[in-house]
Amino acid sequence: MKTALISHTDCLDHVTPPGHPEQVARMDAVLGALKDMDLHRVSAPLAAEDDVLRAHPRSHLEMLRRAAPAEGWVSLDADTHMSRGSLAAVWRSAGGAVRAVDLVLAGDVANAFVAMRPPGHHAERITAMGFCFLGNVAIAAKHALDHHGVRRVAIVDFDVHHGNGTQDLVEDDPRILFCSAHQSPLYLGTGAADETGSDDNVVNVPLEEGTDGRGFRKAIERSVLPRVDAFKPDLIIISAGFDAHRDDPLAGLALVEDDFTWITRALCDLADKHCGGRVVSCLEGGYDLTALGACAAAHVKVLRERSNGRNAG
Ligand SMILES: [Zn+2]
Repeated sequence: MKTALISHTDCLDHVTPPGHPEQVARMDAVLGALKDMDLHRVSAPLAAEDDVLRAHPRSHLEMLRRAAPAEGWVSLDADTHMSRGSLAAVWRSAGGAVRAVDLVLAGDVANAFVAMRPPGHHAERITAMGFCFLGNVAIAAKHALDHHGVRRVAIVDFDVHHGNGTQDLVEDDPRILFCSAHQSPLYLGTGAADETGSDDNVVNVPLEEGTDGRGFRKAIERSVLPRVDAFKPDLIIISAGFDAHRDDPLAGLALVEDDFTWITRALCDLADKHCGGRVVSCLEGGYDLTALGACAAAHVKVLRERSNGRNAG
């Protein structure tokens, strides 16, 4: 079987103001790093409104549609801006995550990486923020549960920032386990260890500035992997941000490519144990273009290795 790579050129039309770190060039960095890999390339569809409405109220969708400018930029907060092409990119980012779930759960591919922007893990129920507009991974998880009828989905977010949006969208749903490892203090300031969800289904792992791969692995081994293991998920969704890399300009952790290889393997091991290797990974942050490309390649290489051994089913 293969690994799906889901993307769409519409995400190049979500243009942020000059100097903004969440820039179009991130897609070139990621897709360029994956260009020689043997992947099943899939075009991201626009998300169906019903899928988005599992996570956000209609008023939020209407707000985004109203805000979208015909030219120039509209700012939804200090760092979240819409250009003319943003709306399509936003809808395809969510649609790509949903498509990944469909492909993996149908057994068409072993696992999938969604290389889209804008990212989604900061978007709350009614608030676009932190470069994010819709909660892509939460939408994908709820689609897996409600549409495909899987029982439990684990989301693991290793972006350097707390996935406050995903937490907001899933913390009252005991069918979803949400684990986030992130630098603290850092934007947005949420994600303390005592935020545990309505049913003890949220696991926050704050990491001090300067934490390197050794400290990161220890924290993941202690606080995240045993929780995912005990949850026995039917699907694992990864919020794959690569801004915990030591070269990233937005944060102060000190991971290297090998650390992303390590956590990807660890999550694939748990997926092998509980759910036939079913992993859907969605790009979140990562703002040093060289590190972003290298880390995304390291991450997808592991997914590709794992898909090799699997037969279609
Ligand atoms: Zn981030």
